[in-house]
Amino acid sequence: MYRRKKFAPARRCAGRRRRGNRVLEDLLSITILLCSAALLITVLAPWEEGSAYSAGQDTDVCWPEPLPAEPPLPADRGEPFPAEPVPVDSWQLLLVNRWHSLPEDYSVQLVELRNGFQVDERCYPDLQEMMDDCRAAGLSPLICSSYRTQEKQEQLFQNKVDRLTAQGLSPEEARTEAAKSVAVPGTSEHQLGLAVDIVAADNQNLDQSQETTAVQRWLMEHCWEYGFILRYPNDKSEITGIGYEPWHYRYVGAEVALDVRESGLCFEEYLLLREETLAANPEA
Ligand SMILES: [Zn+2]
Repeated sequence: MYRRKKFAPARRCAGRRRRGNRVLEDLLSITILLCSAALLITVLAPWEEGSAYSAGQDTDVCWPEPLPAEPPLPADRGEPFPAEPVPVDSWQLLLVNRWHSLPEDYSVQLVELRNGFQVDERCYPDLQEMMDDCRAAGLSPLICSSYRTQEKQEQLFQNKVDRLTAQGLSPEEARTEAAKSVAVPGTSEHQLGLAVDIVAADNQNLDQSQETTAVQRWLMEHCWEYGFILRYPNDKSEITGIGYEPWHYRYVGAEVALDVRESGLCFEEYLLLREETLAANPEA
């Protein structure tokens, strides 16, 4: 093949050369055009997309494509991972019980739920998500109590005292007895705006039968994922000062809720342990 081409007649050879030159010229023109177009696209593309970044920046950072959606967190999130632990004086850790009254200057920004109840706006997104997910599981949870004013708590407490005195108790005895089931005004977590009573639509009785409902079973299993804890467990009444309430949930934020759940402690015990741990390890 090589020898035949080398010794081909001069005319045919000249014709081939001309055709070859034309093809080469065409190829060269196309190549130059393609290179110019590629260069223009490379330089201009980020600006055509409306990027605020200069063309010289690292495209891993500035390429203006939308980020893929963040994958959902698994239900079992393991160890808490915030860079900073929740500060001891955080609103999420504020303790209100019969021994710790609401601070006198306490104020709260409220947001109204669809059913007219109000909660602290800081717990609202997580509460809404918890209720939505509970409903998505095929259940029917109902919020039957949330934020209460001082006046409302006084009214509830007085109603209980009146019922007990009507049963024959002295005013003193009635107040002592009433305080076992209704928080003394100024000492109810509901006045924080961070506590909600949730019942099952098909059982709205505020008694122990709540714990057997599918709604409470779901809430008790999942509430910590949304930053809530079951505030008054069955075996901690002497420490919390309130009897077992399988319907009362308190918002403490996801980090603390996870800690409380893993510790198996009630909120009072958890706060004490946290205080002691921090005192022993001030750098922790
Ligand atoms: Zn409650």
